[in-house]
Amino acid sequence: MTEHKPNPGLRAKKSLGQHFLNSPSALKKIIAAAKLSADEVVLEIGPGTGILTEALLKTGVKVIAIEKDARACDVLTGRFSSEISEKRLILKVGDVLEGEMVTANDVGHKIVDGNYVIVANIPYYITGAILEKFLEYSPRPNRMILLVQKEVAERIVARDKKESILSISIKAFGTPYVVTIVPRGAFVPAPNVDSAVLAIEDISVNRFSGMSSKQPAEDEIKRFFDIVHAGFAHKRKYARRNLERVCDHLKLDTIWKNLSLDGKIRSEDMVMEDWINITKGIK
Ligand code: SAH
Repeated sequence: MTEHKPNPGLRAKKSLGQHFLNSPSALKKIIAAAKLSADEVVLEIGPGTGILTEALLKTGVKVIAIEKDARACDVLTGRFSSEISEKRLILKVGDVLEGEMVTANDVGHKIVDGNYVIVANIPYYITGAILEKFLEYSPRPNRMILLVQKEVAERIVARDKKESILSISIKAFGTPYVVTIVPRGAFVPAPNVDSAVLAIEDISVNRFSGMSSKQPAEDEIKRFFDIVHAGFAHKRKYARRNLERVCDHLKLDTIWKNLSLDGKIRSEDMVMEDWINITKGIK
């Protein structure tokens, strides 16, 4: 490993969301929150010039890094030549959102549900797409530790106690919390917004289990999201009223009664478990 400079000869490309982390204290908090043990495999999205990659490798883990910018990959190839030859770092040039994730052949580790961790300072313009890809679809990581826009992190944890489609979607699969706020000055070049380290732990589809007798989880997950989307369709309407689009009102009466829900509750005031229970009731 050669010593890190935040931006070694790379002019940041705005179109790729490039804001290189340049803060030892933020880096320390990310690594601490990741709680890695040396036998784990980490998927890093958008390693850039490798500040986080280096910190990850120092913990002893194996890193699979996917980077879209070929220039950054050249920097990484030079910087981590020994780790690459030891197969402790597998570097892939490409778009994390395209195609199959990674196969056993090209990374020497078969990525399956729950046998890897995502740690990344991701490009913010694809935050939603990354969360969707790795939570709603298999293979899901065990946990994720991501730098995201501060406002997005706060919406996900419902800091103001108001839930949203976004917060419910994340909580259906995992337990999110804000590790720390990272000010914009911690990046080169500085973005226009502050950031936060967001951790999502205990990722699984177990929260969906028992929704119906034998349907596959994927179908149930889709049904759950259809119901959540219907519930949030009109912000000023009561949740119950919104749900009349997907369920007849007599059945909704029963569900509301069984769950002891207030007839006037709004979707933003219902928690993830309410949506799971409603989905079970509607089937
Ligand atoms: N992790 C680095 C860089 C963060 S900037 C650091 O903390 O310094 C985000 C990185 O994601 C950039 O290197 C950018 O080139 C890369 N990137 C952007 N879109 C991508 C995509 N679709 N797939 C993979 N990497 C992408």
